[in-house]
Amino acid sequence: MDPLRPALSGLKRLAIKIGSSTLIDPQSGSIRAEWFAAFAADIARLRARGQEVLIISSGAIALGRGRLRFSPGPLPLEQSQAAAAVGQIELARAWSQALAGHGHVVAQVLLTYDDTEERRRYLNARATLNTLLAQGAIPVINENDTVATAEIRYGDNDRLAARVAAMMACDGLVLLSDIDGLYTADPRKSPDATLIETVPVLTPDILSMGGGVGSAFGSGGMATKLMAAKLCMEAGCHMAIARGTPSSPLSILEGGGPQTWFLASATPQAARKRWIAGALKPQGQLTIDEGAVRALGQGKSLLPAGVVAVDGTFERGDCVAVCDLAGHEIARGLIAYDAGDAHSILGRRSAEIEILLGFKGRDEIIHRDDLVLMGVRA
Ligand code: GLU
Repeated sequence: MDPLRPALSGLKRLAIKIGSSTLIDPQSGSIRAEWFAAFAADIARLRARGQEVLIISSGAIALGRGRLRFSPGPLPLEQSQAAAAVGQIELARAWSQALAGHGHVVAQVLLTYDDTEERRRYLNARATLNTLLAQGAIPVINENDTVATAEIRYGDNDRLAARVAAMMACDGLVLLSDIDGLYTADPRKSPDATLIETVPVLTPDILSMGGGVGSAFGSGGMATKLMAAKLCMEAGCHMAIARGTPSSPLSILEGGGPQTWFLASATPQAARKRWIAGALKPQGQLTIDEGAVRALGQGKSLLPAGVVAVDGTFERGDCVAVCDLAGHEIARGLIAYDAGDAHSILGRRSAEIEILLGFKGRDEIIHRDDLVLMGVRA
């Protein structure tokens, strides 16, 4: 075994994506009940050793299409959206029942593209999922297929899973589908094709192994999986590809079955801070007092009480520069309030926010997870 391969048991926050072909029996169009029961036991095992788990489950369209008696083959958009509306209920019920059997609470979360791409909504989606995880619930996530329009879709759950893993600072994502992993060549055509155990860097050679979109080796679509891997690696999240169809695929993965791991070089926290410090253009500026400068230096969040001035026009979730009284930029972060609300609460205690704004906002104007000290970049 490649010593670089991460141990599944060592990952603290794990996203697991299950493809439709894994979950649904193609003959009957129903959920594969035995597989499902065994998988729920595997998830319970991960939870029992303290790992946080998020499930990205496909299968809504595959389940719903039979119930609506749509003909086989690719469906027009409106029919697949209708099928998702029917299938998603069944899918959520199945997850909820299977994991309830192990004493776990399941939460259904349906996301549209903007929920992970648009910063204001991103903060909300992340806070909701973090709250669910903190309470020990298992989020079961899918694209909100019924309302997502063609232009603003993730389109495939590999990409959705990678976005969720990045947004939630997961340290691992496992894509379970109908392929073993990444091969040096198409294993159906080249008998010499070998499985690549670990990919530390996405070289052009590796990327070419995905084939073009739609010409991937496996029906699971290697090209979209490589795109997902790129997203994950940049976000500090290791990503694995393994076959999901056998019973207990996570146990098989841990037992050393066929798998490919794409390795992240940084932790999710460091990658996120690099993104805030390097990739985003500040839309405004907060000037803070000396006490707040000290607090930030100790790794604390920025509270409204320490802010003495607010400049610029920005929305909640935008990146702002944080300057000391001499005007030096000492930090950068994603702000939890828009410019108007930030003005209203500056210099005030967090307990006053509700009275000042008429709603109970966050105590922190910039939470420490969303803040990076300039000069102390990861
Ligand atoms: N969201 C789709 C469904 O639940 C699946 C998309 C995919 O498999 O990539 O049916």
